[in-house]
Amino acid sequence: NETVSKNFIENIIDKDLAEGVYDTVHTRFPPEPNGYLHIGHAKSILLNYGLAQEYNGKFNMRFDDTNPTKEKSEFVESIKADIKWLGADWEDRLFFASDYFGQMYEAAIKLIKKGKAYVCDLTADEIRQYRGTLTEPGKESPYRNRSVEENLQLFEEMKEGKYADGEKVLRAKIDMASPNMNMRDPVIYRVAHMTHHRTGDTWCIYPMYDFAHPIEDAIEGITHSICTLEFEDHRPLYDWVVRELEYPHPPKQIEFAKLYLTNVVTGKRYIKKLVEDGIVDGWDDPRLVSIAALRRRGFTPESIKMFVDLCGVSKANSSVDYAMLEYCIREDLKLKRPRMMAVMDPIKLVIDNYPEGQVEYLDAPNNMENEALGTRKIPFSGELYIERDDFMIDPPRKYKRLFVGTEVRLMNAYFVTCTGYEADDDGTVRVVHCTYDPATKGGNAPDGRKVKGTIHWVEATNAKEATVRLYENIVDEEKGVYNKEDGSLNVNPNSLTTVTAYVEPALMEAKGYDSFQFVRNGFYCADIHDSKEGAPVFNRIVSLKSSFRL
Ligand code: ATP
Ligand code: MG
Ligand code: MG
Repeated sequence: NETVSKNFIENIIDKDLAEGVYDTVHTRFPPEPNGYLHIGHAKSILLNYGLAQEYNGKFNMRFDDTNPTKEKSEFVESIKADIKWLGADWEDRLFFASDYFGQMYEAAIKLIKKGKAYVCDLTADEIRQYRGTLTEPGKESPYRNRSVEENLQLFEEMKEGKYADGEKVLRAKIDMASPNMNMRDPVIYRVAHMTHHRTGDTWCIYPMYDFAHPIEDAIEGITHSICTLEFEDHRPLYDWVVRELEYPHPPKQIEFAKLYLTNVVTGKRYIKKLVEDGIVDGWDDPRLVSIAALRRRGFTPESIKMFVDLCGVSKANSSVDYAMLEYCIREDLKLKRPRMMAVMDPIKLVIDNYPEGQVEYLDAPNNMENEALGTRKIPFSGELYIERDDFMIDPPRKYKRLFVGTEVRLMNAYFVTCTGYEADDDGTVRVVHCTYDPATKGGNAPDGRKVKGTIHWVEATNAKEATVRLYENIVDEEKGVYNKEDGSLNVNPNSLTTVTAYVEPALMEAKGYDSFQFVRNGFYCADIHDSKEGAPVFNRIVSLKSSFRL
C-alpha cells in the first residue's frame, strides 16, 4: 500500500538494495530457549518475518543456544509452536547456534592468528577493575601481549579442559581506551564445564553473545540483523567481529525499541514467581501475556499482527496501553464469531400469558453483521433467565431496560411488557413478571411501535450451567506494578472471578480455543485445559465496552 509510509528499517533496506550493499533481504528471529515467548517477542517475530515477505527474502528461525546455563529443550518446543501459531513460516530454515560451535572455535583461532585475540588470566573482578570507567581509560591486561603461539596453545588447553571455570578467558584485542566500554578488550570465550542441552559435554568453552551472534548471522547469510535498543552500543563490536573475520557479505545490525505494555508484566522472574506461588496456573495462565497465554485466552494471530502493526517500529522506547490489544481482538472477532446468549447473573423472567409448558424454537442469526455465519434455532418458553441488572424496581430516568410498566425487546424473540416482580424481604428480586405480544415474533411490531431497550435471555428449562472466568489485570494498577520497598509485584487480589452462567444449549458443544461473542457482554473462549467434553469452561477474552479510541 503506497499510502502507508515505511518504517525506518524499511528505509534502510531500500537504501541498501538501491546501493547494492545487499541484493536480497534475509532476516532471522533468534530467541534464547530459556523461557516462553511473550507479546514483545511477537513484535520481533512478525517484524522479521514480515520484512522477509515484503522483500521476497528469507526468514530464519534460530535458537541462540550458546549459553548452557539457562537453556532447556522444553522451551525449544514451546517457542516453535508459538511462532508457527503466529504464522511466521521458517520453511526448512530452522537453525541452532550450537551447531556452529566448531566454526566459532575456528573463528577464535583466526583472530588469535591475526593477533586480534589473547588468552587472559585475570579474574572476572580484575577484568572489571582494569576496564576503567566512562571517564577514565582502561588499563591493559598484563597478558595482552602474549605471543600468537602461546595464545594458540593456551586456547587449545582451555578447550581440552585443562582449566577450571573462570581461570582463563579469551579476549578480543581492541582498544582499552575506547570511549565505548564494549570495545575494551571484551571477553569472547569462557571456560564453563557445563552440559549443553544439545552438544552435551563436547565443549567446555563457550562463546560470549557479542562474539557468537555476528558469527551466527554471517554463517546464515543474514543481511539485516534486527535487535532491540539495548544492543545499540554493542554494534561497534558486532561490526568489528564481522570485519576481522573477513566475511565477504557481512550482516548489518539494526536496533529498534522494545514493545512495552503499560502495567503489564513480561519479566520472566516475576512470572516464574507468580507460577511458583500458585497465583497463576502456569506460564499460559490467561492473565499473562506470553504468546501461549494469549492463545489460551482466545487471542488470534490476526489480532496480534494488527496490534503489532498499530504499534509501529521505532527507535524511541514507549509503552502501549493493553486496551489497544483488546481493541484489536474485538475488531478481529466482531464479524468472525457467532453471537450467542449467556446470562451471567440470572433472575427468572416469567411470561404470564405464554402457553403453559410450551417450548418453541426461534430462528436467530449467528451474527447480525455477517450473514455468512448463518442462523441457529434457540428454544423459547414462558420461563426465561435474564440478567439481574436488566430489571430495576426504581430505575433512574434514562434506564432503557425492564421496570414495571415498560416494554422491551427480548433479543431474537418478542416484545414483553413488565407487569410486576417478586422480591425477598431484603429487597432481592427473585422473579420478574411480564406479558408478551405474540405479534412481535422476531423482534418487530407490525404496528411499527418502538421499544427503547433490547435485552438477552436464555430459556430456563433448556439453559445449561457453564463455568465462566472473568479476568482483571493480575497487577494492582492503583498501587503501581512494583512494590516500592522490595520490588515485588503488587498483585491484584481480584484478577480472577469465577461465575456460573446460564448459557444457551448450543454453547455446550464448544471445544478448547472455540470462541464466541456473548451478546451485550464480551468475547469468550473455551479453555483448552479445563473444558471437558460437553462441559466447557469459558474465559473472558475481552468485554465489549471500551473507552479506547484509535
Ligand atoms: P526476555 O528477557 O523478555 O525473554 P530477551 O531479550 O531475553 O527477552 P531473547 O530470547 O533474547 O529475549 O529475544 C529474542 C528476540 O526477541 C531478540 O531479538 C529480542 O531483541 C526480541 N525481543 C525480546 N523482547 C522484546 C520486546 N519486548 N519487544 C520487541 N522485541 C523483543
Ligand atoms: Mg528470552
Ligand atoms: Mg536475551
